[in-house]
Amino acid sequence: MSDSRPTHDSGQVMIEAQDLTKHYGNFAAAEKVSFQIPKGQVAGFLGPNGAGKSTTMKMLTGYLAPTGGSARIGNHDVGTDRLEAAKLLGYLPENGPLYTEMTPASFLKNLGEARGMKRAQIEGRLEYVANKCDLKSVWGKMIGKLSKGFRQRVGMAQAILHDPEVLILDEPTSGLDPNQVVGVRELILSLGETKTILLSTHILQEVAAVCSRVVLINNGRIVFDGPTSEMGENAESMEHRFHELTGAAVV
Ligand code: ADP
Repeated sequence: MSDSRPTHDSGQVMIEAQDLTKHYGNFAAAEKVSFQIPKGQVAGFLGPNGAGKSTTMKMLTGYLAPTGGSARIGNHDVGTDRLEAAKLLGYLPENGPLYTEMTPASFLKNLGEARGMKRAQIEGRLEYVANKCDLKSVWGKMIGKLSKGFRQRVGMAQAILHDPEVLILDEPTSGLDPNQVVGVRELILSLGETKTILLSTHILQEVAAVCSRVVLINNGRIVFDGPTSEMGENAESMEHRFHELTGAAVV
């Protein structure tokens, strides 16, 4: 396993799923999903396609009301205290809504204003995210004209714009080419030095590269939760365990 994975856990729970359940008719997209991510941890939310990762993340972020259970971000119940939870939270949705007619500069500035950030703070944060997400070269270009890799970076920039303590990233590298994947992984590793992060993926190498903890979901239920090293000593044994626990082949 990589030594670069952040391990500065301090015990305070920053992301909590408590029996989170989502039913669509008789179908359980998520069933009593429970886990706690402590401050400073970078955790991978792993599972085959359709396992319930996005559904759970949408409930954690308040974008989807659960059928049962509850979610907390920091000390805030997402169901009853969503605005306070949102202040602590940056969320990269899968295929995030990006305003294709705007430039990264105008999109992120508007977003800062919509989030109630002060003008001076917005200026500073725009500079920071432009550098951190490597967006300077496309700052004034239409988002709709950008490559998938750059659009994903704009998505990351909006997630971190208000400097949230907690990041929930839904498939942050999906659809990217290998170079772009490396770039986004490096960004996540660097953010993981100071933030609590839950990222979903169906790629084991991703987890091995950036996560100290794995929560594995299959058919809407948690089937493994533990240190990445307990999933397997190397990529091969991790794949074997993944297959054992989910019946699914690793993509
Ligand atoms: P993952 O993110 O792990 O790929 P999802 O959370 O997107 O999985 O989906 C979990 C399951 O719930 C899938 O079988 C999906 O088809 C189903 N599902 C998701 N959203 C809906 C919906 N709005 N109505 C019915 N089924 C849904």
